Amino acid sequence: MKHLPALASALALAFTSQVEAQTVIHAGHLLAEPGQPVSDRQSIIIKDGRIVAIKNGYVDGERVIDLSNDWVMPGLIDMHTHVSITMDIDLPNPAADMLPAVLGRPAQRVLATIPRAQAILRNGFTTIRNLGDPANVTYDLRNAINAGIVAGPRIIADEPMFGVSGGDYDASAFGARADLEPLFRSHGTCTGAIDCARAVREEVRRGADVIKLRLAAQTSDPKSGPMETPEEIQAIVTTAHRLNRKVAVHSAGSDVANEIAIDAGADTIEHGPLSDRNIAGMMSRRTAYTATMMAAKMAEGKLGVEGGYYSQVAGSVRKAYRAGVPILFGSDLPVVPIARVAEEFVLLNEAGLTPADALKTATVNAARALGRESEIGSIVPGKAADIIAVAHDPLKDLREMGKVTFVMKGGQVIRDDSSKAP
Ligand SMILES: [Zn+2]
Repeated sequence: MKHLPALASALALAFTSQVEAQTVIHAGHLLAEPGQPVSDRQSIIIKDGRIVAIKNGYVDGERVIDLSNDWVMPGLIDMHTHVSITMDIDLPNPAADMLPAVLGRPAQRVLATIPRAQAILRNGFTTIRNLGDPANVTYDLRNAINAGIVAGPRIIADEPMFGVSGGDYDASAFGARADLEPLFRSHGTCTGAIDCARAVREEVRRGADVIKLRLAAQTSDPKSGPMETPEEIQAIVTTAHRLNRKVAVHSAGSDVANEIAIDAGADTIEHGPLSDRNIAGMMSRRTAYTATMMAAKMAEGKLGVEGGYYSQVAGSVRKAYRAGVPILFGSDLPVVPIARVAEEFVLLNEAGLTPADALKTATVNAARALGRESEIGSIVPGKAADIIAVAHDPLKDLREMGKVTFVMKGGQVIRDDSSKAP
């Protein structure tokens, strides 16, 4: 084991020596950081997978990539995915895939996940935050991508959804025979503050980059309090933070549970809707909101989601945005299929975000919420060369984001279908 660091650095050296010495992208229109002005005719200098300089005009280089007809932007970040599972919400039992996800062979599962991860990357999402994987294959996929064994987006992962015993992802909730429940038992299920702290610590050792807490849905008596105790929620958040992991909280509509999670220091609230009190708390604590609007729209009336849910979520986005809560891009894939993920930008715009602010949700805002703003989220010297392009101005029409033509991740070209200057 002592030799591992030496081996890792030898491997890293072997990989970097394969990277081309210097690449220059000629960017016709550069949105280096959404929210800042666009600059025309810029050269992005890339070396060893990193952006080293941005220069005015078109400079020469050992290898030149011509994007002079295009709008060039930082690689996108999807803050809420479940890449290892598939789902068709139009089927009568959309969760049917959960059974093979839990009981299937891990190698089959990870191999089936690779093309999906690659399709996401080809669509311009160079980073995804994967929040829950019943198949428990995401850490291995992430490690294989990081080691260069397979191509794929950067993955910030938590495999189990954390929740209390009796909650939505506890084995008791799956409707399986009681003697089969151990097969569905999640590493993230815990009872009491001490046990919840243990569960978080162990999961970080297994490989969690982030902790996802799934608050139990309030399905029974609306007058009853949340299923979680404040101590359990606090233990999960505090332990994660002590281990330098952010906490994403799946909100299930309980204003009280949301409030406890926000007060405990949760970093992002997923889905919603949010009460005015929740929004005020998020504003003062700088808690970000991943609304997953497209998923809300598609799931309405299905998956046990009530009619009117989408308008509640859209209302929460509108209010939270006006209050100054950072808004984040999240697809909740596979609820939303890969091909339709970018429609989230249009819905965010409809909920009041300016086009530039809609683009910030998947770039600078997302990078900051991940605590990786020094690494990703904008095109500035020092950051990873995660760069995409589209053919027309996305600030004029956000639907353009669904037609990405060029993707580079860490200096490596993943696709180039851009139209070249004549
Ligand atoms: Zn989700």
